[in-house]
Order: sequence, then C-alpha cells, then structure tokens
Amino acid sequence: MKIILIGYPCSGKGTQAKFISNKYKIPKISTGDLLRSIILKKTTKDTLEIKKKIDSGQLIPDNIIISIIQKRISKKDCLNGYILDGFPRTINQAKIMEKNNLKIDYVIELLIPKKSVLKRMLGRQIHEKSGRVYHKIYNPPKQKNKDDITGEKLVTRKDDTKQIIQKRLNEYDFLKKKIINYYKRKHKLNKLKFIKINAKKKLFIIQKKIIKFLKK
Ligand code: AMP
Repeated sequence: MKIILIGYPCSGKGTQAKFISNKYKIPKISTGDLLRSIILKKTTKDTLEIKKKIDSGQLIPDNIIISIIQKRISKKDCLNGYILDGFPRTINQAKIMEKNNLKIDYVIELLIPKKSVLKRMLGRQIHEKSGRVYHKIYNPPKQKNKDDITGEKLVTRKDDTKQIIQKRLNEYDFLKKKIINYYKRKHKLNKLKFIKINAKKKLFIIQKKIIKFLKK
C-alpha cells in the first residue's frame, strides 16, 4: 500500500498520515521531517544551505530530495508500503519516482481553505527530534511548550511566519495543479486511485472516508 497525501501545509496531512500508519502498519515518511532531522544531526555547508532554504520557504533541489527519499524507502520497514507526506512537491519529483519504479497506489488530496491554513499554522509548535506536532489552541501539549512524551522543549518552526506561510501557500498553489493533474491522468488510466477529501470535516469523518477509499 503506497500512498501519497497532498494538501496545504496544516491541512492535516501529518495527522492523517499518522492515523494510516498506525492502522495499516506502514511508515509515514515526511520529507520535511527527514530534512529537519538531517539538519539537527549535522552542521555542514550542505545542511546549513538546506536550513536556509527551509527557513525562507524555498524548495530543496529535486536531486537532494530524491536521494533522501530513495534511501528512506529502501529500508526494510517500507516493504509493505508507506505514506508520503510532502513528497512529491514538483512534477519532476513525481516523474523521477515513477521512472525508478516507485509505484503509487493511492493519492489522497486534503482540501482546506487558505484562510484556515493561516489560522492553523500560526499557533503550531513542533518537537524537533520526533516531528510531533501540536497547536497552542487546537491541540495543546499537556504541559505548556513541552513535548508530551519526552518533556523536551517545543519550538515554533522558523518558516511558520505569516510572510513565509503566504509564500509557501503560493508555491503550493502553483505546483499542486500540475501534480494533481498528473495523478488524475493516472487515475483515469486505472494506474492508481485518487480521492479529494474535505479536510474541514470532523476527524472521524475524514478517517472513515480514508478507510473506505483504501479498501477499494
Ligand atoms: P513541510 O514540513 O512538508 O512543510 O516542509 C518544510 C520545508 O521542507 C518546505 O517548505 C521545503 O523547504 C522543504 N521540503 C519538504 N519536502 C520537500 C520536497 N518534496 N521538495 C522540496 N522541498 C521540500
């Protein structure tokens, strides 16, 4: 079961990916999380360059992303499939993936209005090492500013500012259309299954839809 989740930042991709991962016992792979963990582990010229790009809302070059994702996907835990969150971000990434026989079975698009994204993103906090995500209002940690599991400090992502968020949303609008059209064409050719889900609905409704879709 190889799944791609597509949607604005903060459309709930991370939450749904975690849900699918637990239910179907396949790993959730977020390129954003992978990049952030690489930055945390090492400080080199390359990782500083990646950090600069992420902090300013720019995309990381396709060759770097592809090499990171291929390395991750070749691990044992991916034998039965995986859920990709934040990948592919460009049509080139999608095509390279296909060329390398990384076949996708399901594409789920989570739809949410732009103004809701801003609201959700501006209170977001993360635990850097694990990628666990909280929200000051909608999903607060048990103890203010602390991760529920480790008790370590939560941080606000440097790219979660109004200006950078706007930039990331514009970039998403520009690329999404192409990627969605690409997968819709594959859907029409019966090469994969595609669904759009209203991500403003209640969590259990979204999850019911996902389960029904993945049974197809
Ligand atoms: P995310 O955690 O998915 O919001 O990603 C955070 C940042 O990581 C993005 O704004 C990009 O700078 C970078 N990034 C994550 N995934 C990709 C990707 N597939 N292609 C290029 N850049 C990416």
